Amino acid sequence: MTAMSNWSVKFKKDCAIAFDEEHWQKMNYSTGCYEKRFSKSRENYRNAELERQRAYILRNKSLLNMEKLLVDFETHFNENGGNVLWARDVDDAQEMIWELINKRDIKAVTRTNSVVLDEIGLNKFLVEKKMPYYETSVSRYVLQAAGQAPYHPMFPALHLSKEEINSVLNQHYKLKLDSSSKQMVNFIRHQTSKHITQAQVCITGANFLLSDIGGVAMTENEGNIVKACASVKLHIVVADITKVIPSVEDLGLLLPLASAHSTGSSMSAINTITTGPAKNGNGPEQMVVILLDNGRSDVLGNEVIRQSLSCIRCGACVSVCPIYKNIGGYAYGTTYIGPIGAVMTPLMIDLEDYAHLTTLCSLCGRCVESCPVKIPITDLVIENRRLVATERIGDAKYEAMVRTMIGHGKSRKKMDCASWIKRLEIKQLVNKNAFTKRVMPEIAPKSFSQMSKDGEV
Ligand code: SF4
Repeated sequence: MTAMSNWSVKFKKDCAIAFDEEHWQKMNYSTGCYEKRFSKSRENYRNAELERQRAYILRNKSLLNMEKLLVDFETHFNENGGNVLWARDVDDAQEMIWELINKRDIKAVTRTNSVVLDEIGLNKFLVEKKMPYYETSVSRYVLQAAGQAPYHPMFPALHLSKEEINSVLNQHYKLKLDSSSKQMVNFIRHQTSKHITQAQVCITGANFLLSDIGGVAMTENEGNIVKACASVKLHIVVADITKVIPSVEDLGLLLPLASAHSTGSSMSAINTITTGPAKNGNGPEQMVVILLDNGRSDVLGNEVIRQSLSCIRCGACVSVCPIYKNIGGYAYGTTYIGPIGAVMTPLMIDLEDYAHLTTLCSLCGRCVESCPVKIPITDLVIENRRLVATERIGDAKYEAMVRTMIGHGKSRKKMDCASWIKRLEIKQLVNKNAFTKRVMPEIAPKSFSQMSKDGEV
């Protein structure tokens, strides 16, 4: 057993910041809107469960054949005139991007809403290199102005109210404080369109890599991706290796499922497949796909946890997770947040540093019900807990508390002791911050066996 990692200490502090009534109400409102749209979108399916099962099989087969699918993707993409680079980790990916940018006379870069670009620390890297970059999605544009990180994979500015966004735009662009949502969106669209024409490179993620045609599938609702990619000389795609699927035909299953689960719409407004640089001079003259591993090959080796790699990043599990609604997006301290992030991060980065994330889940199962590719997230949480326990790298205090609780649960004498003693013990055992923001439930005055003896049950 080890003492708490620095990440764990930071996590507790950040949870305490997020844990307040106003935050809770904002999160509940936003995620509640999502849940209504999501359940309506499922009505579009005659048999949603069957589609999820098909997606589960497809994604798992893709993982098992990943090596071949990636090599085929590379062959076909090269035949189409593109280039594929293989990045082992974040440093590799950053170096590759810089080398590509440096070869050209580049004045500015645009980027799109993609979590993998956050994973490689793109914004910070470009700032360090003094290369101007522009966000092209509406919500990320606001976050860039506010100097904030995304709060949710699909709705990066989920934590900001309309008034807060208004205030950011007023502060940075002198937009009127009483602007309507429509006025704000129109203003940002105008700004992003201007930036898109100023940039010579666009960096995007990919929703799927299509092995059979060497294509990159990207899906969006705003139209900024397609505009940004079409107007530059160089299009760089950063895609993690798990994005590969066998065929363009599979999009018929996966794209509607991804839309329904990410935003609650039956289909995203704009879906693009690009198979390489433009052949007629109308689009990027160079297109490069950087395939990022960054610890995923190691996760592939664990048969149980491997299933987490079939995630299609729809964000549904994040939106429905009661823990996320309470602690928000920043407390995780990681790029991938919510239930799937809490499963993947300890294995992709460091089990010891992030062991605390394995204790978060209450195993309510809402994430499993909402996952379009049926990842058994709660089973994976339990597997992670097993690894932490086996390697004895969990928080020593937490372990001691659980052992004491188990000891008490096994002792009839202790279970029958007076309720005020139980209350005192719980207060001593449980983290001292646990009851600063909520009331500790009352302990029943009699134990079950006492009630049974007294004929009360
Ligand atoms: S684990 Fe499932 S629900 Fe969560 S983001 Fe991935 S695909 Fe979506």
